Amino acid sequence: MLSTMMRTPLTLSHLLERAGRLFPTSEIVTRMPDRSLHRYTYADFYRRSRALAEALQKAGMQPGDRVATLSWNTSAHLEAYFGIPVAGGVLHTLNLRLHPTDIAYIINHAEDRFLIVDDVLLKLYEAIKDHINVEKVIVVPLTGQPVPAGLTSYEDFLATATGDFRYPELAEDTALGMCYTSGTTGKPKGVVYSHRSMILHSLGSALPDALNLAQGDVLTPVVPMFHVMAWGLPFTGIMVGCKIAMPGPHLDAVNLLDLYESEQVTKTAGVPTIWMGVLQALQKEPTRWKILPMEMVVGGAAAPEAMIRAYDTFNLKVVHAWGMTEMSPLGTVSRTKHNLVGSDPDMLYALRACQGIPMPLVEVRAMNEHGAAPWDGQTMGELEVRGPWVAQSYFKLESERDKWSADGWFRTGDVVTISSEGYVKITDRTKDLIKSGGEWISSLDLENLLMGHPAVREAAVIAVTHPRWDERPLAAIVLKEGATATVEELRAYLEPKVAKFWIPDAFVFVDEIPRTSTGKFLKMQLRDTFKDWHWES
Ligand code: AMP
Repeated sequence: MLSTMMRTPLTLSHLLERAGRLFPTSEIVTRMPDRSLHRYTYADFYRRSRALAEALQKAGMQPGDRVATLSWNTSAHLEAYFGIPVAGGVLHTLNLRLHPTDIAYIINHAEDRFLIVDDVLLKLYEAIKDHINVEKVIVVPLTGQPVPAGLTSYEDFLATATGDFRYPELAEDTALGMCYTSGTTGKPKGVVYSHRSMILHSLGSALPDALNLAQGDVLTPVVPMFHVMAWGLPFTGIMVGCKIAMPGPHLDAVNLLDLYESEQVTKTAGVPTIWMGVLQALQKEPTRWKILPMEMVVGGAAAPEAMIRAYDTFNLKVVHAWGMTEMSPLGTVSRTKHNLVGSDPDMLYALRACQGIPMPLVEVRAMNEHGAAPWDGQTMGELEVRGPWVAQSYFKLESERDKWSADGWFRTGDVVTISSEGYVKITDRTKDLIKSGGEWISSLDLENLLMGHPAVREAAVIAVTHPRWDERPLAAIVLKEGATATVEELRAYLEPKVAKFWIPDAFVFVDEIPRTSTGKFLKMQLRDTFKDWHWES
């Protein structure tokens, strides 16, 4: 074999060293619980991350030990993102929006040895503490209040470090972190990321045609650091050396817009619900904030086309991406390919509303009963993916092997079409598909269209059992404040846009659509609410 290149391991210590040496003056800002802004530099971040790594080692953390975090998006959480893995530990981010019983289950399943918790979340810790068995609890004093007796203050813990931390030599396949899926059914499933997978994911995410992140950007990850590692942004941001402005626990529209303005944010990321709220605030007071032209990545659930269009009027560019806990999470990003620039504007908006083309190193295929579906933008199949940042198993869960195909692809559970240009469009989750008289109806398409109606704030479409057609669509509609629309109007609005049999047989006006802890429509609950729906014959 020809001698080729060096095989230096792809590990996180490289990113931390790079950050400390090359970008010591880059800033990290955090909105604290009292709304004040805490500021420090990468030099501080570097020193404190290494102090955490050393303190953990001194406290007896062994390679592979899991260290859990129950925290908002803050600079201290960022320190944990780096300090834990560079010392050989496994960063386990806990979703603080889950029910305490689920959080306790997840901690026990992961066998977490240490827990780092924000003081503003101590109530939640109180609710789980008798059901878990962690050795040491470290409290981040965000409010400045004294840390309760028996628990260790994060600042005291860092003070046990002397500053002579040495990176252990880690193989690139060493576990770096883990997340549990926020699935709507069954027990949460753990996914373990490696140093290698996260470094490759960071390189891929930063690309101009992906999240387009550079040193001169100012980045605000609104997506919580407990939702698939904030989509990898803490790693990508530190890798490129950009300023980072963290929202802390304040995720409401006004606080976010204030942060965008004061920190001159250029890149941000979050789920559609967050962006709906921000849009409403902007529409209410269009001249209140002076915001730079900003790219807003949206993922986790489908971004309605109407929202993408509305943001354009504020010079804010929504970039639609698709991903999953099982894929670190980024899989596809929707940007206009150069050969399509100048095409019909409506077609381009439709493209931006689909989930996008696969990132480099990610392969996609849509599988149905005939095998791989053609890339014709019409034939549906279950999206399967393969790549170096796609999970190959769940943590301690052999029973889920059928989520991987015999030839090693991961079955996403998303039903898609793929266009001849390679744009993936999600039409549904497999379990949300509506089958009416033997034909499939896409609930996502209907929702997207309905959310384009001027009176509709949100729409969720579900399948309800029907005596004649097996299933028919029912649309649950939330109207905008002060707006009105009748069922007949909504029906007439859809008529020219979709096949007749797609038009929901029922429209129900509701106050809100139930959601999961990560902002997805909780269709299971909606289906349950409407399971005894009486169809008019
Ligand atoms: P999670 O693992 O919590 O990130 O959930 C992953 C699932 O969220 C995917 O399998 C999709 O069903 C859904 N999802 C993520 N991004 C999008 C998107 N851009 N459009 C539609 N659904 C999405």
